[in-house]
Amino acid sequence: MHHFDYRGGVLHAEDVAIPDIAAAIGTPFYCYSSATLERHYRVFADAFKGQPARICYSVKTNSNLAVVATLARQGAGADVVSEGELRRALAVGIPPEKIVFSGVGKTEGEMAFALETGIDQFNVESEPELELLSALAAARGLTARVAIRVNPDVDAKTHEKIATGKAENKFGISWKRAPAVYARAKDLPGIEASGIDVHIGSQLTDLAPFEAAFARVAGMIEELRAAGHQIAHIDLGGGLGIPYRGDNDIPPHPDEYAAMVKRTVGHLGCSLTFEPGRLIAGNAGILVSRVIYEKRGDDRAFLILDAAMNDLIRPTLYDAFHEIRAVAEPAGDAEQAVYDVVGPVCETGDFLARGRRLPRLQSGDLVAIMSAGAYGAVQASTYNTRPLVPEVMVRGDIFQEVRARPSYDAMLKQDIIPSWLD
Ligand SMILES: *Cc1c(COP(=O)(O)O)cnc(C)c1O
Repeated sequence: MHHFDYRGGVLHAEDVAIPDIAAAIGTPFYCYSSATLERHYRVFADAFKGQPARICYSVKTNSNLAVVATLARQGAGADVVSEGELRRALAVGIPPEKIVFSGVGKTEGEMAFALETGIDQFNVESEPELELLSALAAARGLTARVAIRVNPDVDAKTHEKIATGKAENKFGISWKRAPAVYARAKDLPGIEASGIDVHIGSQLTDLAPFEAAFARVAGMIEELRAAGHQIAHIDLGGGLGIPYRGDNDIPPHPDEYAAMVKRTVGHLGCSLTFEPGRLIAGNAGILVSRVIYEKRGDDRAFLILDAAMNDLIRPTLYDAFHEIRAVAEPAGDAEQAVYDVVGPVCETGDFLARGRRLPRLQSGDLVAIMSAGAYGAVQASTYNTRPLVPEVMVRGDIFQEVRARPSYDAMLKQDIIPSWLD
């Protein structure tokens, strides 16, 4: 459920008409609904009432400070994958005790910063990382709370570029190596390996792969406990999918997911951490764009927008489907056309949708690319020297820019012409 609906024939974000934002700041822009962010957080949190769970929002999904601050106000912690994200979480007041640090390539500098900050948990993904973390913590007289991220070798049945839990993926420590790594951790100074972590992928629309992975984690905990390890924390990652095609592909509800969690690991008496990202932010954002041209080719029609792959790369990177809506609600009997919806970038891979049936549109019309709140703005680039898309947040009947469009001057000033060319 989100708060982007037609009212009086015009698409609104909560109580704000999209054309009003376009008139104020120009296009393209991302628009986030704070009510939707809050609602999704609450639905997930409420699903775990009665279980010892905490929710650490996956900051990489949408790291705008306005988004992270909105969730922090709801009580969210943070799952970060870089020092930059850790600094974002701290900047909006998320207490270090609610922050977990994931990722396969944490550098010495990043781990030192995280240790000094006092974050709650390092999700360790390799043996060299564990050794380095131990050295850094011991040198500071600190103890790092560690969850070993295990790779359960489970097929998440999602797009290959967002599957992380198969043996061939770079993530986590091999299932078979894990007991030896816990044994090693026990001998290392500055390390308390009291947790286990798993994250098998993103946009999962079926509970079965989760259930298979979590059952493996439960078995592993029993094995580790039998070997004398005190395992008290389980981090089950993120990954629950969202509907991208309206009512046609409804993934499991968080309530069903929570019941499955209880079934698989509830008997172990561990505290639980979850790292949802897409589920919270995905349907809380849209990308608004204007049609530059409608171009009729020999065998297809192109809708050329002012938004492009550099603003939203998911269609070309993940073959992702995003619903596209005309901002002016089309009449029931409106003429339709089948379009390749593309941007101005000089790449054949620059498309937002292909072969899409839409109402006939023309230059100047506004469109909304739906479900763009997750892995949208955060993956944007300035390719073709296109300014990063501004971001707007709506709350009720007010909206505010939460990241402004940079000026061309500011963009060009980032480069430096070397002295020998002066
Ligand atoms: C990306 C990521 C998440 C969030 O995944 P979603 O599918 O957006 O919920 C959680 N944990 C880790 C370790 C991640 O890399």
